[in-house]
Amino acid sequence: MATCPRCKGHLTDSHKCPRRPVVVAAETTAVGLAGAFAGLVLIALFDTHEQITNLDLILVVAAGALIGIGINRAMRG
Ligand SMILES: [Zn+2]
Repeated sequence: MATCPRCKGHLTDSHKCPRRPVVVAAETTAVGLAGAFAGLVLIALFDTHEQITNLDLILVVAAGALIGIGINRAMRG
C-alpha cells in the first residue's frame, strides 16, 4: 500500500488528505475577513455621501463575511 507524501495516510483511490483544524480555522478567518473587506469596499463605492449608519455598516460587513465563508464551504464540497 502506497502512502500519501503529504499526510502519510494510505493512498487509496479515494484518498483525501485530512484537513487540520488549524488550517480550516485560518482559512475560514481569511475568507471571512475577505468578505468583510469586500463589504467595506462596496460601501465605499456606493455610499459616497457617507449616509450609512453604524448598524448598516455592521450588517454589510457581517453579511460579507458570511457570504465569503459560505462560498468557501461550497467550493470545498
Ligand atoms: Zn494525503
